[in-house]
Amino acid sequence: MNFINKLFNKPLINCPRCLGKGNVDWDDIKRLKQELKWLPGECAYCNGKGKVPSDFPNKISPDNVYLTSDLTLEERKKVVSSDAEIIKILQVRNNQADDFIRQVLYLYFIGNLEIDKIIEFYSIPRYNEEINLEQKKEITESIRKIIEFEKEK
Ligand SMILES: [Zn+2]
Repeated sequence: MNFINKLFNKPLINCPRCLGKGNVDWDDIKRLKQELKWLPGECAYCNGKGKVPSDFPNKISPDNVYLTSDLTLEERKKVVSSDAEIIKILQVRNNQADDFIRQVLYLYFIGNLEIDKIIEFYSIPRYNEEINLEQKKEITESIRKIIEFEKEK
């Protein structure tokens, strides 16, 4: 490595989110305590490369809930640089997810509704828009996961 490269290339370290694999699996998700929010897939922390600059964890924590692979690369850069506009949007989404989790737990553990009834409740068309099969599948899986996770605690 010549002097100029040395000057501009920061040393790389194994990605602390995916541990260098480039993909986040259930073990990583459990370690980072994001079981109810994340699914296995490409690592958004290293963009699938498995390595990050050594100073990257000082800029953003590996378990940052907003930095996910459903964002474009441009959006991920904005999250890393704490862009106020995108953080605000992602905060709203995250609050909605937290509300959903609390509601499901309430309906099941306090309201004593069967899982199927909770799924039916969240499948009621909103603004007269029918829930399609794919959405219903996602709702069903989320509700089951939230309840299972709480039972295992
Ligand atoms: Zn990674």
